[in-house]
Amino acid sequence: MADNLWNSTEAAQYSDELALRVYSSRLLGRDPSLVLHGGGNTSVKIRENNLVGEEEEILYVKGSGWDLATIEEAGYTPIRMAHLLKLAKLDTLSDLQMVNELKTRQTVASAPTGSVEAILHAALPFKYVDHTHADAVVTVTNTNAGYDHIEEIYGSDVVVVPYVMPGFDLARLVAARFEAEATENTIGMVLMNHGIFSFGDTAKESYDRMIELVNRAEEYLKTQGCWELPEPQEPDPEDTAIEEDCRWELADLRRELSQLAGFPMLLRTWQEPSDFAFCRRDDIHNVSQQGPATPDHVIRTKRLPMVGKGVTAYVSDYCDYFEEYAPNARSEVQMLDPLPRIILDVELGMITAGKSIKECMICGDIYRHTMKIIQRAEAWGGYQALPAKDISDVEYWEREQAKLRKGGTAPSLQGEVALVTGAASGIGKACVESLLAPGAVVIGIARE
Ligand code: ZN
Repeated sequence: MADNLWNSTEAAQYSDELALRVYSSRLLGRDPSLVLHGGGNTSVKIRENNLVGEEEEILYVKGSGWDLATIEEAGYTPIRMAHLLKLAKLDTLSDLQMVNELKTRQTVASAPTGSVEAILHAALPFKYVDHTHADAVVTVTNTNAGYDHIEEIYGSDVVVVPYVMPGFDLARLVAARFEAEATENTIGMVLMNHGIFSFGDTAKESYDRMIELVNRAEEYLKTQGCWELPEPQEPDPEDTAIEEDCRWELADLRRELSQLAGFPMLLRTWQEPSDFAFCRRDDIHNVSQQGPATPDHVIRTKRLPMVGKGVTAYVSDYCDYFEEYAPNARSEVQMLDPLPRIILDVELGMITAGKSIKECMICGDIYRHTMKIIQRAEAWGGYQALPAKDISDVEYWEREQAKLRKGGTAPSLQGEVALVTGAASGIGKACVESLLAPGAVVIGIARE
């Protein structure tokens, strides 16, 4: 169950509404079963006086590129509510127009660009709004009869909204659905194949409701007998490449990926029994090829993992996917590198690929959650992710690409691996430091 981490003593240190917004957002960010690596967003609406003494209602919404686990007050973008509510009534608003409107209506020039969901947060008539991609909820929504099950779990406590790409269109749909369907009992909203929202008059009320709603989905899955996963068998060492001979295979794979990518890539192995159990499923070629549990993950993991070691075939399939869906992208787009980020192999377990160790870790964290979501949904009639077109729309959406670029320019030795002998002291140690600084991964060896 998702634990309710609210601590009254801790919370008492925060007297103003924004500080409490930061506090409860960090509680959400601390639980990887709710949000992972920059996913989700939160907001609070605050009345305040501007410089000329007029009272205004301001939406403080998570700024693009901030992570709920580490967010600070500076990570919230203050935007004038009155204008956001007018925008929500427009028939159309392009991405570029939306960014311009958000940027020119924020009250602090140096604040980050507001979340792409700013208009949606504004349109929800509650002081505090919390949004996560909780595992239990997306497990239910990514199944055949997901819509019916969500209604069964929540009744009129939530408004259910079919999948629409995040941004203005979703904000409009939410506003319309809310007006038509919300009752005085409504405490949240489920976006099919995407995630869940909770609302409240206080930070605590909204947070408590998020935990309660997520736990209701988990309880439901338990009663359906698909929450507890079978204990994975320890893999037979005879049958795996866990021991040192896998290093050569990994090195070959790394070389092949890096050559095709045109830049050095790092690989990281994930070899817990549960990773092997997933990679060795008889139906792995089917269940792993449906798509991510929530579209946001695509910018980290790509739409599909590679099964086995057929890099050339994966690249060719990715190019086909790009050619098919790129013409529908909202702006002219260039193909990203066509290499996999998740590799599922019977011998090696899960391998994640990335330009840096951080990228490899993020991909692994996300996919370990995805494995559980897929397994639970499969135990309950079948995992069904969004069609490729919807995922491509998010992958090739300028706003999503901008999130990745926020990291700035890459260090000059990013993705390279260096071996330094005599690394414990003197020149060797200095070499290690001078290689680490521009981003290399360094293996240091020294005699005792
Ligand atoms: Zn979301």
